[in-house]
Amino acid sequence: MSDELNSKIEATIAVLHQAAREFTQVVFASSLGAEDMVLTDLIARHRPDISVFSLDTGRLPKETYDLIQEVEQRYAIPLQVYFPDSALVEEYVAQHGINGFYDSVENRKGCCYVRKVEPLRRALKGADAWITGMRRDQAVTRGTLEVSSFDADNGLQKFNPLLDWSHNDVWAYIRQHDVPYNKLHDQFYPSLGCAPCTRSITPGEDIRAGRWWWENPESKECGLHVQSATGQSPVALRVSVEGNVGSEAHDVSRNQNPANKECGLHVRSTSLKASRERIIEIAANTKQEVSA
Ligand code: SF4
Repeated sequence: MSDELNSKIEATIAVLHQAAREFTQVVFASSLGAEDMVLTDLIARHRPDISVFSLDTGRLPKETYDLIQEVEQRYAIPLQVYFPDSALVEEYVAQHGINGFYDSVENRKGCCYVRKVEPLRRALKGADAWITGMRRDQAVTRGTLEVSSFDADNGLQKFNPLLDWSHNDVWAYIRQHDVPYNKLHDQFYPSLGCAPCTRSITPGEDIRAGRWWWENPESKECGLHVQSATGQSPVALRVSVEGNVGSEAHDVSRNQNPANKECGLHVRSTSLKASRERIIEIAANTKQEVSA
């Protein structure tokens, strides 16, 4: 392992200890993506007082469940899994159908809200700091991120200890330490989410092309992918030459997903009551669109 990567590892460990030292209740929101597996491994090895949680939306691919089990068997630290509120899921499905998220962007966001956002709010409740696996070079909008800053949306401190890691750093660490990872990464799934909303990509495709692929590309545009001289985004070029495309660290640890291609995990804090109101609002909007 290079000296540069060793330095990054040491810096990351220092940030984790700093967070645990300076805050009373620190949580790590693991998406089980490649970056978050690195952080899981570091937390398990160095034992800062940080609890780890993940969200089970109820629609995850088999490989993600396999990874959850592998993590539980491999590491001595507990992985707490949060599930959606069953009443909210039932309400959503009753209104929109079991696969209603395919019908409109609003329906999709509503589903993400019920299955991801509301459980995240519960998971963060009581914490005064959280850890994410975001990296600076994942998106141009992350260039101004800081390793530690106050997350006003969620009302707690946010640490991004992998901010200066590259994609190659992440995978070098995973290989070197035999860290478990989602086997879908070996099948060109760079960005992992729920099974019905994620497909593999082909060389040259944008790294985000596999997420909510049925949505209009214009509606999904978020301005994150700067075009290179060849017309391909830098990320797409990377995918074309690497067998393993890694993870874009899906949503529990991201807050840079503007426009439609976001799951809504990092929107303003919303109560359970408000989330129910949100479902009703989405249903009303959908009816208006249909009748228009
Ligand atoms: S990714 Fe798809 S299935 Fe998962 S919560 Fe969002 S809309 Fe629902």
